[in-house]
Amino acid sequence: MKKSVVSSFDVDHRTLREGLYLRSTYKINEELSVLSWDLRFCAPMDRKPLEAGVVHTIEHLMAYYLRLDEQIGAAIVSFCPMGCQTGFYLSTMNTVTAEDIAAALTRVYNKVFPIASTDDIVGLNEVQCGNPYLYSVEGTNEAMKNYIEILNK
Ligand SMILES: [Zn+2]
Repeated sequence: MKKSVVSSFDVDHRTLREGLYLRSTYKINEELSVLSWDLRFCAPMDRKPLEAGVVHTIEHLMAYYLRLDEQIGAAIVSFCPMGCQTGFYLSTMNTVTAEDIAAALTRVYNKVFPIASTDDIVGLNEVQCGNPYLYSVEGTNEAMKNYIEILNK
């Protein structure tokens, strides 16, 4: 197979399972290394992607609470949803390991979930968000519970 420019296209998504994967390492000016992690909530071919409201709610909560994590918060570059709605990209400095991320996600989960209402979704308002009417409380609780169970298997 021809090597593509975007490294995620080099992965055979037919065999990819749910989990946490190191996707790419980006060198910046030969000085800094940024790691791109694949937080895969759904196996790609299960035909059951996350609902858009779930993706949006997890994006708000994790982008906020992971940055507050004492161990890895300062090393987080970005947390972004995948357009295919099967997971998220987390970018960190290269001091962070997969075990660190799994532990941090579990800490956030234990601290924040289950959420009870939109009051628990940080930044979900017209000032801070482009579409505050897109969310899911129940679906997010279920998706996060499933993913944390997968990470801690
Ligand atoms: Zn938003």
